[in-house]
Amino acid sequence: MLASFKGKSIIVTGGSKGIGRGIAKGFAACGGQVMLAARHTAELDDCVAEIKSSGGVARATQCDVADWQSVQNLVAETAKAFGGVDVLCANAGIFPQAKIVDLAPDDWDHVLSTNLKSTFLCVKACIPEFGKRNQGRVVITSSITGPITGFPGWTHYGASKAGQLGFLRVAALELARYGTTINAVMPGTIMTEGLIDLGQQYLDAAAAAIPLKRLGSVDDIANAAIFLASDYASYITGQTIVVDGGQILPETADAIAAI
Ligand code: NAP
Repeated sequence: MLASFKGKSIIVTGGSKGIGRGIAKGFAACGGQVMLAARHTAELDDCVAEIKSSGGVARATQCDVADWQSVQNLVAETAKAFGGVDVLCANAGIFPQAKIVDLAPDDWDHVLSTNLKSTFLCVKACIPEFGKRNQGRVVITSSITGPITGFPGWTHYGASKAGQLGFLRVAALELARYGTTINAVMPGTIMTEGLIDLGQQYLDAAAAAIPLKRLGSVDDIANAAIFLASDYASYITGQTIVVDGGQILPETADAIAAI
């Protein structure tokens, strides 16, 4: 176990699937009380059952992270169930693909609301809870896509993920007065349900372009999130960790071929 979160209250948005599910299971394995949030209840219930069957503590709340009232309800329910909020993992996100010429303005707004506005809403809703005990941790799931790399069809997604980092650098200053840190994990290509939807050809090409020659696992991201939320990272705020198997490093395809 990397760290103990015994008795701590942890919100994981997008906790029903993929990276969020991995993060939720990771915190539960470290003794945390985990509140999972997503829109579809069947997958939430499935994840809660899995965590409980391993001896962990978990509950779930249906929540649309782009909706202010829904996010406020999530935080209120978490505080009621677990006595407060110690850690917010702002992880929920979507990555539909459409090139600019085909991208409808409403679809742009939908991605920005789900990925970026949600980060603001979740942090805003948690501030009163962090303030009560003058402590808190926020871990954002950003991406290498947008802040560092690009892929055709993801202008809206890349903008949302880069926007999260702009948000975090200012938020780190504002949250300091509540004894709260905020940092981000920047995953490379991680094997999740959402990524499987992009097709085997995409997955094979992605793995071939990664120096460590494999896609990341949800546990790879969970480990970084757990570190950033732990006492080991209590003096780190406004920072990012790239977790990508070296994906951003090769200058050219020749660099990969020469490994
Ligand atoms: P995923 O497998 O598709 O899971 C996404 C999760 O977010 C689900 O639990 C989903 O549940 C939830 N969600 C989506 N929209 C929501 C909304 N409006 N309100 C509440 N919950 C919502 O995706 P993933 O691959 O794990 O991605 C998770 C995060 O990692 C995202 O922020 C993504 O940008 C980031 N990321 C992923 C990768 C990768 O390679 N997989 C790489 C870099 C960054 P519902 O649909 O039931 O709401």
